[in-house]
Amino acid sequence: MQPAAREDGWHSEPFEPVVRDNRMYARGAADDKGQVFFHALGVRAHLATTGRSAPAVHLKLLIEGEEESGSPHFRTLVERHADRLAADVVIVSDTGMWSEDTPTVCTGMRGLAECEIRLHGPDQDIHSGSFGGAVPNPATAVARLVAALHDEHARVAIPGFYDGVVELTDRERELFAELPFDEREWLRAAFSHATAGEAGYSTLERVWARPTAEVNGIGGGYQGPGSKTIIPSSAMVKLSFRLVAGQDPDHIEKAVRDWVAGQIPDGVRYEIAFSPATRPCLTPLDHPALKSVARAMGRAFGTPVRFTREGGSGPAADLQDVLGVPVLFLGISVPSDGWHAPDEKVELDLLLKGAEASAHLWDDLAEHWQRVP
Ligand SMILES: [Zn+2]
Repeated sequence: MQPAAREDGWHSEPFEPVVRDNRMYARGAADDKGQVFFHALGVRAHLATTGRSAPAVHLKLLIEGEEESGSPHFRTLVERHADRLAADVVIVSDTGMWSEDTPTVCTGMRGLAECEIRLHGPDQDIHSGSFGGAVPNPATAVARLVAALHDEHARVAIPGFYDGVVELTDRERELFAELPFDEREWLRAAFSHATAGEAGYSTLERVWARPTAEVNGIGGGYQGPGSKTIIPSSAMVKLSFRLVAGQDPDHIEKAVRDWVAGQIPDGVRYEIAFSPATRPCLTPLDHPALKSVARAMGRAFGTPVRFTREGGSGPAADLQDVLGVPVLFLGISVPSDGWHAPDEKVELDLLLKGAEASAHLWDDLAEHWQRVP
């Protein structure tokens, strides 16, 4: 789950939805309960406007409730029920679009691997005067480990990390470059003060199509007021890796383990624990079902849609792998919705557009795929 508490800066209780200024505020309002809900509205609208008693295509609704915890059981469930879930195409809504004025369809999501590393030096905190300079310090070791994670071009320095990465096509780079990207606005949404990342790639390319290594938390030693002259007995770091199409989480785990083993000095013990990983996924731009999604979105918004990818991660790739069908993304969330942040919200107008797009989609797929007899 993603914890949320009033003290984080929420203006209302995070788990009690509140509507203000045509927006609904709640943890999950946009990511992803609101976006599950618009499909229910969409099916209802589809039936009401077509007068059908059943949707124009066979619909199977699957609501995944463990996505925020890494979906530990999802793949097994999909494997076990692959017959019941068999489909021509999967539509996933754990995604967003460019902005209110620029509707977009997402073509893929990054994957995710996460680990926690605990380092142990002396068996207890020891005096830095009596022993300092003569034994290894686990806090220094963890700092060195983190410093070695990237090279001077901000590329991940773990050997084998980029094995198999599907590179961006020229066409996709062109399409990304045509999006009305305002770096200052993007930085505001990122609550950040400068862009930084892998050399040779634009900000959008870095976030959507390049793999990353990030430090999520780091600690060790005395952190109270004033000073305490010790060599701490332990230190820790939490790392996460966003993965792109072509990267295999098992391979990444092995690469990280091998790399860490070579970085830790003598006299420091460590444990490394990985959480269940999420695979990346990507649907090619010329896929016919992707065109259906784009048309349905275009009808709802009254304007042609553009294409993006999503930097976040979801269990969509398991559906792609196990069911052997393309996974397409239909989402209406916008960056200002603030997923996981205090005052996460969803725009109610966009939620209804999402319902409309969903309603059109079943017609469009029926026309271009197989209509229910
Ligand atoms: Zn989330």
